[in-house]
Amino acid sequence: MNLEEIEKLISEYEVKGKELEPNRETRNMMMESVSEYSEQFLDAVHNKKAFINDFANDGSFDNFPFEETPTSTNKVINFLKDNVDNAGINPASGGHIGYIPGGGIYSAALGDYLAAVMNRYAGVFYASPGAVRIENQIIDWVGELVGYKKRFGGNLASGGSMANLIAISTARIAKKIKSKDIENCTIYLTKQAHHCVTKALKIIGLHEIQLRYIPMDRKYRMIPEKVEEQLAKDKANGITPFMLVASAGTTDVGAIDPLNELADLAEKYGLWYHIDGAYGGFFLLCDETKDKLKGINRADSVILDPHKGMFLPYGVGIVLVKNVKHLLEANSYDANYMQDTKDYQQEYSPADLSPELSRHFRGLRMWVPMKLHGIAPFRACLSEKIWLTRYFYEKVQALGFEVGPEPDLTVAAFRYVPKSGDANKLNKKLLSIIHNDGRVFISSTTLDGDFWMRIAVLSFRTHKYHLDIILELLEEGIGDRSN
Ligand SMILES: *Cc1c(COP(=O)(O)O)cnc(C)c1O
Repeated sequence: MNLEEIEKLISEYEVKGKELEPNRETRNMMMESVSEYSEQFLDAVHNKKAFINDFANDGSFDNFPFEETPTSTNKVINFLKDNVDNAGINPASGGHIGYIPGGGIYSAALGDYLAAVMNRYAGVFYASPGAVRIENQIIDWVGELVGYKKRFGGNLASGGSMANLIAISTARIAKKIKSKDIENCTIYLTKQAHHCVTKALKIIGLHEIQLRYIPMDRKYRMIPEKVEEQLAKDKANGITPFMLVASAGTTDVGAIDPLNELADLAEKYGLWYHIDGAYGGFFLLCDETKDKLKGINRADSVILDPHKGMFLPYGVGIVLVKNVKHLLEANSYDANYMQDTKDYQQEYSPADLSPELSRHFRGLRMWVPMKLHGIAPFRACLSEKIWLTRYFYEKVQALGFEVGPEPDLTVAAFRYVPKSGDANKLNKKLLSIIHNDGRVFISSTTLDGDFWMRIAVLSFRTHKYHLDIILELLEEGIGDRSN
């Protein structure tokens, strides 16, 4: 091809490719459609069902394949409305009181939007000192909330599972666990520890490590005396105790392990002390609960999920490591092509503190809401959830239900035990009544072999009337029962 032909070809491609760069008028039209749907969504959110039991595939996706040609914004939005925003659990609903609800505050969406438009490179300080400073400002704030002093570091990961993974791989490097020694090392945890912990062990090649499931007390908290007994036994048998994993709010029942007593043991026996505060960590913001989390600052590493306790949309979990040196050691690498970046480094780069390099500028979805609202509404919203849980816990007992441990945070378990007949069967039926109604969504668990319903109150949109709906349905449900 001669140069003239090449130039012609370039301009043809340029014209076609320019569709990726809509002009202002087109952008405004697209934005108007998005904005209109968002507004409809938000206007309706308080009346929408929290759960729609419809998992059928009607072929819509097959009929909506990717094509070479564009589809209109309205068509795309209508598709989402009809095929995504219509079935399963609706996490945006305040009626979502199952599992651990996520958030989705509007201001975070604006942060995400700006982050995507600016597309600042938040992985490396040299690439965007401002973006990295934003993320580090968040890490500093959360670190101070936890009670860490100076030398700590952290990272905004995509969620709690990734945050736990980063913490555990850091622990392994810090404690210098060699592959040949893995089978002879131990981790201490309870059966209530989140399953992403053992998943992380598998991913980083530690699945052959010995797991010591420590007995729990009646509130499903790890019993320190039992940890010490086990430690003494393991030491005597020539085993290397590696890590102690405590929960600051278990997913299942919201239990907080005795963080201070466990810290003493971790220190005494030289264990890496990790605390999973994915669900419970941000209750440090509330006067009602912060004392229950005392000792969290003694962890070598801790994680918190802003997409739970700070009501952000899914996609952000925070890992903190008490001594940033360990996090660096586990994650920083040099590459020749990155050589220019080093001279300018004034602050740690997220890329040196996590497995990720290029990544979403996810700090903005937290930073923008914290700035736009201030911290007070976050505290208030969490406190409301604490009192709603206590309210429900009292009320459900008044209806004659048996309850699980008194809630430390915002998870409570309950079940109805009939005078005769199968309690598990009855409680499954009560749960299905709630699911079929759909205004609220709750989930269940198995405790000591029995079927329990549970509430987890953490959506910023959950208010008293949602809990009253559950109470009404339960009352009707037990009234009907034919045992
Ligand atoms: C939710 C949760 C996790 C997992 O976090 P993801 O953000 O879902 O990956 C880990 N631990 C606890 C205690 C949790 O509640």
